Amino acid sequence: MKEKLLGKDLAGLTKAALEAGLPKFAGKQLALWLYDKRARSFEEMTNISKAGREALAERFDVGAEAPVSMSTSADGTRKYLFAADCPVGGGIQSSFVEAVMIPDADRKTLCVSSQAGCKMGCKFCMTGRQGWHGNLDAAQILSQFVSIDEAGELTNAVFMGMGEPMDNLTEVLRAIEVLTAPWGVAWSPKRITVSTVGVLPELRTYLDSCRCHLAVSLHTPFPEERASIMPVQKAFPLEQVMHLLRQYDFTGQRRVSFEYTMFSGFNDDKRHADELIRLLSGTECRVNLIRFHRIPDFPYDSSPAAVMESFRDRLSAHGVTCTIRASRGEDIMAACGLLAGRHKQQNDLK
Ligand code: SF4
Repeated sequence: MKEKLLGKDLAGLTKAALEAGLPKFAGKQLALWLYDKRARSFEEMTNISKAGREALAERFDVGAEAPVSMSTSADGTRKYLFAADCPVGGGIQSSFVEAVMIPDADRKTLCVSSQAGCKMGCKFCMTGRQGWHGNLDAAQILSQFVSIDEAGELTNAVFMGMGEPMDNLTEVLRAIEVLTAPWGVAWSPKRITVSTVGVLPELRTYLDSCRCHLAVSLHTPFPEERASIMPVQKAFPLEQVMHLLRQYDFTGQRRVSFEYTMFSGFNDDKRHADELIRLLSGTECRVNLIRFHRIPDFPYDSSPAAVMESFRDRLSAHGVTCTIRASRGEDIMAACGLLAGRHKQQNDLK
């Protein structure tokens, strides 16, 4: 397999150019073609000589892979399916990952996947159900940005698709560097949010090396309850995650939010609201309440709208900024917790 150029930083692209016998400045040309113009082939790179393009193609792949399918929701949300071959245990595991483009007023946000499947096993999540099929490399992560119809119109990104970003942090940080570097896509870090269930010590590494926003999947403030739906709680208790977060400043440009999916009769009463208020006191943050999309073999439905509203109002009354997140793309299984690489499931049934 040839080395991919997508995902390389400017030094890496310059090295690749020199290896192909091109002058040093061709590294900058490659960065411009890959990250600004979103070229998917060497033929498109017309200010590089034909011989230079051929020399590059002999040694390297661009690394951008077109989606294998796309579906559009009634609300304009689009779900893209990508084939993903990942190295696992000395071989290559073939799988599929999904990316979701969410249009909203003047924004187009891409919900991007960082792994094929996931090891975390959250009980309410379809991705967790399918297990882990490998880590995406930076090219596979960035391919989700550059290969979709809205590639040139994206304004924001959330790493909330398939996978736990902290479990593949090296490649996630490589992709973020490309998205935020002046020689890359040149986005402000404020346009990117990375989610986590709270994997330590990688969360500390993320906070120390990256200025992007953070979203922590919380779902209940009570440890035993959280452990019953999120196995990660046993390895990395929420109290340790909060202890770490309290050492960082979220009053400036970088923000932390807490994702709280509302399960009827499980985590949606006053007791939970009050414990959440206690847990978050002193932390500058926002809580996003998320409606649950029922999945098979999980005993809870979503909390009704009125219950979500009174939960939100209780938090707000105690000074915790809280919003009910709009649900998008349910009709195409693109909403939170529903991403499962359905193409893979269908293939498995054949
Ligand atoms: Fe993995 Fe996130 Fe699903 Fe949990 S909710 S299993 S961390 S993808």
